[in-house]
Amino acid sequence: MSNENKTIHEFDFNLICEYFSNVERQGPGSPEATLKALSFIDNLADNSRIADLGCGTGGQTMILAENAPGQITGLDLFPEFINIFSRNTKQSDLSDRVKGVVGSMDDLPFGKESLDLIWSEGAIANIGFKKGLNYWNGFLKKDGYVALTYESWFTDDRPAEIEKFWLDAVPEMNTISHNISVLQKAGYRLVAAFTLPETCWTEHYFSPCSKIQDEFLKKHTGSKTAEELIAGQRHEKVLYDKYKEFYGYVFYIGKKI
Ligand code: SAH
Repeated sequence: MSNENKTIHEFDFNLICEYFSNVERQGPGSPEATLKALSFIDNLADNSRIADLGCGTGGQTMILAENAPGQITGLDLFPEFINIFSRNTKQSDLSDRVKGVVGSMDDLPFGKESLDLIWSEGAIANIGFKKGLNYWNGFLKKDGYVALTYESWFTDDRPAEIEKFWLDAVPEMNTISHNISVLQKAGYRLVAAFTLPETCWTEHYFSPCSKIQDEFLKKHTGSKTAEELIAGQRHEKVLYDKYKEFYGYVFYIGKKI
């Protein structure tokens, strides 16, 4: 199948990867939100083992590493993201405590009950919220923590346009109360849940992305796939502006029972 015939879901991963390699974060979030979530975690020491799953190029991993003790492994499916991740750790002198590995969140290279903390921002939807929480539980020590952000509905009902958009992307997307009950059923005690402020989307995600879009289109002049990718990105921002009171990312922090 030629590129021209691909749907938005079948995009050339290399192109997506190249696009997102140009920004510090590959999803909504902020250093402040990462630090707020970290403030609920009280079990860390120099010998702690931490995993950051779906770490991307490591924006939030570096914040974690600068503010928490222990050994941190960032894991992502895309080798190019891990290359950038490793370059960043070297530059910031964190390479003795932080390493990046290529792998999948649903096939983890860690020992059973070996981790003190599993971190994951904007990534669990790729394997499923319920599936991920249940599977990851086995890798945590007793009393270990999970801290993750996940797309969530803020209301029980919402306009059809935005519901369709998100259910296409995240079929399991649900309300905060439902998600908390999924977390509890997966063997965690709820420690905290808080909504990411709008600036995590606007200032820290859409705005840096907007800045690189024209350049990206110029570089890929004539590529329909690139045009569709950017059109999709811009559409997501338009929808966010229109419907932001109905959904967002929520940080869920749980402690393994
Ligand atoms: N945590 C980063 C990146 C979020 S984007 C941030 O908040 O900025 C989601 C990330 O999940 C991408 O880097 C993508 O490559 C990664 N990903 C998608 N499916 C994955 C899987 N099955 N295993 C590991 N990583 C995956």
